[in-house]
Amino acid sequence: MGNKIYKIGIIKGDGIGPEIIEEAVKVLDAVSTKMNFEVNYEEFLLGGIAIDETGVPLPDETIKGVQKCDAVLFGAIGGPKWDNLERHLRPETGLLGLRKAMGTYANLRPAMVYDELINASTLKPSVIQGVDLMVVRELTGGIYFGEPRENLEDKAYNTMIYTREEVVRIAKVAFDIAMKRDKRVCSVDKANVLEVSQFWRDIVEDVAKDYPEVELTHMYVDNAAMQLIREPKQFDVILTGNIFGDILSDAASMLSGSIGLLPSASTGNKVGLFEPIHGSAPDIAGQGIANPLATISSVSMMLKYALGEDEASQRIDDAIHKVLSEGYRTGDISAYDAKEVCATSEIGSLIADYVSR
Ligand code: NAD
Repeated sequence: MGNKIYKIGIIKGDGIGPEIIEEAVKVLDAVSTKMNFEVNYEEFLLGGIAIDETGVPLPDETIKGVQKCDAVLFGAIGGPKWDNLERHLRPETGLLGLRKAMGTYANLRPAMVYDELINASTLKPSVIQGVDLMVVRELTGGIYFGEPRENLEDKAYNTMIYTREEVVRIAKVAFDIAMKRDKRVCSVDKANVLEVSQFWRDIVEDVAKDYPEVELTHMYVDNAAMQLIREPKQFDVILTGNIFGDILSDAASMLSGSIGLLPSASTGNKVGLFEPIHGSAPDIAGQGIANPLATISSVSMMLKYALGEDEASQRIDDAIHKVLSEGYRTGDISAYDAKEVCATSEIGSLIADYVSR
């Protein structure tokens, strides 16, 4: 039997995008060689560079091409050069359009704390040591999209609405992820006040029956916000709707304390988009000093959640730990026990080397 072959879409984007993607591809190449699978790449344009080359932030070729991939790895888009364009022509509009075209209704935002960088967080080490949680946020429904919506002279309103189908499919994503982790789901809602939340809760209970190994708990969103800061270690997978997830995932990302470390994914339909949570960092673009770890970590997520290559994913996670424990740091995290301040490409090469051993 021949090796498995995956087709990975690559979107470098703008600013530090090309620099961090180069390192992520270096690591993916190394781990695929080690684990005996093959990766074919196809590059697509998005954002500012797409505007410069084609006149629009999301070319049709990108929309069509990504659908034929097994997964897509994305750097970041945007920058001052394109800030004054009309809204429909801006880089960010291209990214929102791509997510919509890909039908990604689930946003996965892990938050983990590396022991080596424990002092990067604003919270006490005793509170955050060992944190490893995943926020699963519903991305295409809820109050951000609900109809009717109106802004009138004397009142304005939005509608929080979820259908059974929307809740079932996002709940399944969360339970499937929990099966690959610590098998615990905490569903966050406001069922004491909102009918839509009670509906959500009842359906999540139903879906849970298909996952007898997973422990399900429920929490009100106000309490969840407090618990995330008070005792974040209690969480494994947090399942929640669009607006609650928007707020909780940003709060959770600050547990780790550094924007250059955390990956994310938008999944749902066949093809998922894997990307760092940070932007294109125009202030440091082109200098070779960006932290590639969030993007390399996104490769790990892609391997685990899109391709089922769990061992390859674990190799990358282990290599990141090793590089950090040996004191190699890019400038953004050099204040925390750095033995050596490294360039973007040096960090990528070290990790590629460790995953190959
Ligand atoms: P940003 O995340 O790009 O940068 C914020 C700060 O963090 C900057 O000081 C930057 O240098 C630093 N930083 C970010 N990533 C880093 C890394 N990997 N290594 C070291 N330092 C890093 O956010 P911003 O400055 O608000 O936005 C800049 C541009 O990025 C804007 O055009 C914005 O629209 C765009 N943006 C894109 C995305 C995306 O593509 N998903 C997300 C957020 C912002």
